[in-house]
This record gives sequence, C-alpha cells and structure tokens, in this order.
Amino acid sequence: MALAYAPSLETTPVRIAPRYDHFIGGRWVASAGGETFATVNPATEAELAQVAVGTPDDVDRAVAAARRAYEQTWRPMRPADRAKYVYRIARAITERSRELAVLETLDGGKPIKESRDFDVVQAAAHFFYHAGWADKLRYALPGRDEPEPVGVVGSIVPWNFPLLMAAWKIAPAIACGNTVVLKPAETTPLTALLLAQICEEAELPPGVVNVVTGDGQTGAALVAHPGVDKIAFTGSTEVGKIIQKAIAGTRKRVTLELGGKAANIVFADAPLDQAVEGIVNGIYFNQGHVCCAGSRLLVQEPVHDEVVERLAARIETLRVGDPLDKNTDIGAINSAAQHAKIAELVASGIAEGAVLHQQSCALPERGWYHRASFFTNVSQSHRIAREEIFGPVLSIMTFRTADEAIEKANNTPYGLSAGVWTDKGAKSMYVAQRLAAGVVWCSAFNQFDPSSPFGGYRESGFGREGGVAGLHAYLS
Ligand code: NAP
Ligand code: MG
Repeated sequence: MALAYAPSLETTPVRIAPRYDHFIGGRWVASAGGETFATVNPATEAELAQVAVGTPDDVDRAVAAARRAYEQTWRPMRPADRAKYVYRIARAITERSRELAVLETLDGGKPIKESRDFDVVQAAAHFFYHAGWADKLRYALPGRDEPEPVGVVGSIVPWNFPLLMAAWKIAPAIACGNTVVLKPAETTPLTALLLAQICEEAELPPGVVNVVTGDGQTGAALVAHPGVDKIAFTGSTEVGKIIQKAIAGTRKRVTLELGGKAANIVFADAPLDQAVEGIVNGIYFNQGHVCCAGSRLLVQEPVHDEVVERLAARIETLRVGDPLDKNTDIGAINSAAQHAKIAELVASGIAEGAVLHQQSCALPERGWYHRASFFTNVSQSHRIAREEIFGPVLSIMTFRTADEAIEKANNTPYGLSAGVWTDKGAKSMYVAQRLAAGVVWCSAFNQFDPSSPFGGYRESGFGREGGVAGLHAYLS
C-alpha cells in the first residue's frame, strides 16, 4: 500500500511572460506573420503563454543571422575564447537551475524531481563537457591538424527532454565553431527560450544561437532552407524519414536520433529486486516518454511469475499526480494527443489478447495522466510489442535461453538501447555484444553522461551524440 504523503509542492521562482518572440541575431523578434500559439501546462490544461509561430521568413532571418555570426564572429574566434562562452552558459544553467527545472515541469509535465535532478543537471554537464573540447578539437579527429566546423546547423528537438535535447544539440555545435538555429517542439518551447535568454545574458555574440518557435511546418522550413549546412534532428522515425527525403540530393549533412522499442532482458540469475527497480526506471521514467525506454521486458521463464508479482507490488507505490510535487514519480502526459495515442495502443493490446495490469491509484481530474501499466501474455506480433507507445506502458514477454533472448530483442526495426540483468559478467558481455542497439546497459538502465556516445541503429537513426564520436557530426 502506498504511504500517504503530505503535498510537497515546489515553489515557482520563474516568471512566465504572457508572450514570447523568436530569438534571432541576439534580439527578440516577433513572427513575420504576427501569429502566436498557446503552450499549455499538461498537468492542468491551463495556458502558460503565447509563443510566436515561425514562418519561412522567420526561418530565413534566423539562418541569415546564423550565417553572419558564423562568418564574421564565431568561426574566426580563437577556440579558447569560444570555450569561455560555452563555460559561461554552463555556469548560468547551474545558477538558474531551479528556474529551469520548474519551467520544464510546468511546460512539459515531467516530475520536478526528474527535471531538477536529471534534465537540468545533464544539460549543464553537456555544456561543461563540450566547453572543454573547444580548443582541443585536433584530438577529436585523428590525423587531422585543425578540423573545420560545418557551418550553420538547423537543430530540431522533441518535447520529451526539451532543455536537455537543446543542450545536446547546441553545446557540441557551438563548441566546434558552428552556429545554430534551434526549433523546439510545439508543446514545450519555454525552456529553449529561457536558454536563449541565458545565451543573451552570457553575451554570446548575436546570431551564434537562434531560437525559432513553431510547429512541424517551421521545422520543415528549416530543413528546406538552402543556407543550412547540417540538420541535427531528434524526434520520430516518421519525421526522420520525411527529413531524409527532403534533403536528398543536397549537400546537407544530417544526424537522426529517432524512436526506439528497447528490450530490457532479465535472466533468472539476476538480483530480482534490483532488476525490478531497473524495469521501473526503464519504463516509467519521464512517464515513459523516452526514446530509449525499456519498453519490451524479456524475462527468463523460471522467474516470470515472480517478476510480475514484484512489479505489480512495486507499481502500487508509484505516485502519479502533480508534477510540481517533490514526491511525484509519474507526472502528466505531455499532451492530449499523446494521451490519446497511448490509450489507443493500450486498447489494441487488450483487443489482441494481452492482459493489462495497472496500479490502482486515482488520477487528478484535470490534466492528462496515465497509470503505470504493464501487459502480460504479450506475443511478438502484438502492436504493443512492436510499436513505440511512448507512455508508461510495458510489454512483458518470456525467453528460455540467452540466444532466444538475443533473437527476440533484435526482432524490431529499431535499435537504440537495451538492458541486460544477470549476475554473470560473461553472460552480460555475450548478450550485449550481440544486441543491435546503440547503447546497452548491464545491470543498470538510463545511465547518461556527456562523454558517452548515444545513438541508434536501423530505424532508430544514425549519428552519435556525446563523447568524441558526437563531435564528428559537427566537424569536417
Ligand atoms: P516528432 O513529431 O518527430 O517531432 C520532433 C520535432 O520535429 C518537433 O520539434 C516537431 O515539431 C518537428 N517536426 C514535425 N514535423 C516536422 C517536419 N516535417 N519537418 C521538420 N520538423 C518537423 O517527434 P515527437 O513526437 O515530438 O517526439 C517523440 C519522438 O522522438 C519519439 O519517437 C521518440 O522516440 C523520439 N526521440 C528520440 C530520441 C533519440 O535520441 N533517439 C530522443 C528523444 C525522443 P512539433 O513539435 O511542432 O510537431
Ligand atoms: Mg506545454
């Protein structure tokens, strides 16, 4: 039974303006079309602010500003001086961490304990890490004396880790001497705009970082713009394919970080209490809105019933509710559309014969919420075993031998991440080496560090972010 906790609401130190413009060439600029759209708090459905709709003209102005900054200021600057700016941004993120965390939670719905302890911390770490690289890039590409930047980078990010994805894109790009036009997701533009304010306060030269808000059409205009040298995209496989088609035949470079349907493999010899914590972290972190979520659990047959029993007991203790409450484990689903998508896939699981298990808690009346859920009796052909649900819903299947686990884990068009739980080191190595996934965690899940490359195989995309490997995309 869940303990009753008193509410422990985070206070809100952040002032949200009624309206936000684009950040172009170091200035705040209204949309050329004059239009705005609302961004809402998914926990309450209340409007937070109106945000500028980015038109092709806005994108054009931003790319021109980025080009000017690239040619006139940023590329000619001594790398050691560029590093100072990147460090300054990192320090400012740390100094304003509470503001950023609260704003991220308000705009996106994730629990404050995650935005505070994960998103903002990792975002700062990415700037610190890449600041260190700025004047050491000759060591990034062996055999090359002084690698060159690529030019103007168009960065497009999704709504599940808005600030962190912006940091993943901006930090390596500018540390390598490129300039950036960032298009945040429609439902979560506010922390990208606060990051733009931080760039402004850090006196980053105008045009090095530009933020143009809007929807998919704004992103498409950025992809199509002839002045963009490279596209760095994180989002769905569907849009990744559209982008690849759009840039075919151009000289644009591209990295695509796309969807996933990761296998989390639990052997009978694994320490089961730890494995259950890894399962919970793997699928319920950030409401399951995680590209590398461990959304397919493969359990070795002898321990299937025990794992299911322990997991059922564990999810009863997860607290779903107000994301600003410091005790909340599962916050709000990011949008009504995402909530509907999860509900549709859950219904398909039931219709196809899987058995749904859910925690029994009540949900808040307003806002979009979903109980921690998992399915048993799942077969590999079920949609819930094949498609990315992107919500707090796990599909559980079984296996008998390591080779069967490997075959089932790799039976997916995706290949972003995987987890392996066993107390035998040799077995985890045997399995990890054979999994077609960009990242494999052994007796752990969702471990991140800016020095560690992240990225996919197959329909999970290509290119790496983080580490030395991640620098290659921003150098020529
Ligand atoms: P999405 O629909 O692909 O959107 C991603 C971004 O692309 C948003 O900013 C979106 O704008 C924009 N966009 C939409 N259509 C576009 C177009 N035709 N051209 C250019 N840009 C366009 O993905 P999402 O639903 O926001 O995010 C969830 C997906 O991201 C999941 O599949 C998840 O697995 C993936 N993801 C992958 C990683 C990774 O590192 N591999 C990390 C996080 C998330 P709007 O917001 O206005 O639609
Ligand atoms: Mg929002």
